[in-house]
Amino acid sequence: MSATERVAGVLAEHQPIPGAFACSCPWRWPEEPTWACGEDERFVRDHAAHVAEQIASADGLAVVELVEPTRPGVWLRRGDMGGVASVGFIGADLVVSVNCMYSEEDAEWVAAAALSAVAARAAERAS
Ligand SMILES: [Zn+2]
Repeated sequence: MSATERVAGVLAEHQPIPGAFACSCPWRWPEEPTWACGEDERFVRDHAAHVAEQIASADGLAVVELVEPTRPGVWLRRGDMGGVASVGFIGADLVVSVNCMYSEEDAEWVAAAALSAVAARAAERAS
């Protein structure tokens, strides 16, 4: 099953039921409905946050914020301890170089930069 199909499955399992202020799953809006003006919009926003949490926590899926390149096609980072990481494509090869970066934050950045490079490459191909 592709990631797109998994996200579609989560969306199908979590349909809003506006009149009941509920989701098609057991989730219910934590507020007591008063039918006041603007309440529907708050329910829609809170339900969307609930669905986003379901997608982010679904087995086999991860929601990762992509990082901006330092310059077109190149991602560079200096770590707190003076290490350096670089990510980018050389031809068809994704090249990830990491030197003396030890923090969890640096590791997460390297992974996000690699995903960002792949996403940028895919966007170039699609345009
Ligand atoms: Zn739900």
